[in-house]
Amino acid sequence: MFYTFICNSCQEVFEIKASISEISNGLKVVCPKCASSDVTRDYSKINIGTSAGSGAKSSSCSTCSGSKGCCGS
Ligand SMILES: [Zn+2]
Repeated sequence: MFYTFICNSCQEVFEIKASISEISNGLKVVCPKCASSDVTRDYSKINIGTSAGSGAKSSSCSTCSGSKGCCGS
């Protein structure tokens, strides 16, 4: 899974590859540009990774009913 984050300090948008368990365990994410840890996860840009090119999803929960829960549990 790739997770999109936005840096609150420099507005850099970047992706982190992590497992669901890593994320739910509170993975420490820092901005690759300015090294700030003040980052916000962008739930609207969840990228499953295996389905390349299916970007533009407007609903953050469109994948919830699929094989992997994106915001449940
Ligand atoms: Zn930054």
